[in-house]
Amino acid sequence: MSQLAPPPAGKTAVITGSNSGIGLGIARSFAGAGLNVVLNSYTDRKEDHALAEEMSKAHGVEVRYIGADLSKGDEARRLIEDAGTCDILVNNAGIQHVAGIEEFPAGKWDAIIAINLSSAFHTTAAALPMMRESGWGRVINIASAHGLRASPYKSAYVAAKHGIVGMTKVVALETAQEPITANAICPGYVLTPLVEAQIPETMEKYDMDRETAIRDVLLTRQPSKEFATTDQLGGTALFLCSDHAAQITGTTLSVDGGWTAV
Ligand code: NAD
Repeated sequence: MSQLAPPPAGKTAVITGSNSGIGLGIARSFAGAGLNVVLNSYTDRKEDHALAEEMSKAHGVEVRYIGADLSKGDEARRLIEDAGTCDILVNNAGIQHVAGIEEFPAGKWDAIIAINLSSAFHTTAAALPMMRESGWGRVINIASAHGLRASPYKSAYVAAKHGIVGMTKVVALETAQEPITANAICPGYVLTPLVEAQIPETMEKYDMDRETAIRDVLLTRQPSKEFATTDQLGGTALFLCSDHAAQITGTTLSVDGGWTAV
């Protein structure tokens, strides 16, 4: 087996928070590799379902969109139940809020912990029985370089991302003797709507133009001085689904231009 072994045909991947950014990039990579895909976000708009239809037509695989607000545990579990089958679970949905700890709104703390961490507990609990039933499974948690390192003003995000790295290890240990793996991908900065939203406040805070704010603030800890791409994240997730990655479990895979090497 010298070429990258693709994931077994006909598998279904549920990707949370996948109508945008990294989740959408992973969905496109998976559909392109012949996997069926369930897209998700908290909205249930015509364009969400149209996105699924467009992806299905482009790649000749089954793509569905299921709306579920993952800030609520029962909605997270319903997403997996409505999917009906879940061979690959990508816990990707996430939000961010930046503020000093004394000013950090308690509601934002609760929402970040619920969406970025607790939703993955609920989806994983609902999906593992399906993986056991089918005899194969992959849990891929989209953590962050902030799952391994801290930054000021991101208390809830850093706590949630460190938490999901810990939970990944537990899931890996609980499934270690089964054909199921659980890993966390830790991206550095990827230019998606989540990061785009941080640029204006960074420009204002440091009184910088866009280019300087990106290079000297956002990418200050990313030695490559380049954003990672959603396509690179899709390829990394696809690798974790391949048979070459069958013995990779309970670990983190950094896609961060060298951030955590420092
Ligand atoms: P994004 O804003 O483009 O995508 C986030 C997705 O989560 C969207 O589809 C959004 O609709 C969904 N979402 C938000 N709240 C939800 C809710 N209550 N219920 C269901 N879905 C909800 O952001 P992104 O940059 O693509 O981030 C995706 C993941 O990658 C996040 O977990 C983020 O923390 C992580 N990440 C991003 C970067 C980066 O630089 N962009 C770096 C490291 C980690």
